[in-house]
Amino acid sequence: MSKKSTIFAEIIKKAKMVDGICPHCAEHTLLISVVMDYYRCLNCGGDIEQKVNGKISYLPVDLSVEEIKDGKEI
Ligand SMILES: [Zn+2]
Repeated sequence: MSKKSTIFAEIIKKAKMVDGICPHCAEHTLLISVVMDYYRCLNCGGDIEQKVNGKISYLPVDLSVEEIKDGKEI
């Protein structure tokens, strides 16, 4: 069952890594792109949305909306 690591290697190969200041932990760290324009801080694991309007800025992604959605009983 070593397929998991292969998949992870594929993700890493496709993922985009940038360095920047994380708005969650305020550390200058590596940010890894998980999906288009969304990055994850490798220091604290916080999700960040990248905004590019002339200059690049990183905004913390508020996950509380998603959490409420997930927690909703069906
Ligand atoms: Zn961080």
